[in-house]
Amino acid sequence: MAPSTASPAAPARPAAPVGVPLRDIVPWAVLALVLGAVLIYFVGAEQGATSLISGTWVHEFTHDGRHLLGFPCH
Ligand SMILES: [Zn+2]
Repeated sequence: MAPSTASPAAPARPAAPVGVPLRDIVPWAVLALVLGAVLIYFVGAEQGATSLISGTWVHEFTHDGRHLLGFPCH
């Protein structure tokens, strides 16, 4: 068996956390909030008098989610 030529491992240092500037986070946070608000609207309020899209297909498409999240339905 050949002797190992690997040097002993350097002592492990804890990884320093990487800082993310707030300026880089804000656009993604705004996008997530807008998409979340649109999703909550379509799941919870797209029916009856508050409906933006005619017909019932959006209501039926999100129906199970509406019941799952506890929005009033029928
Ligand atoms: Zn229902």
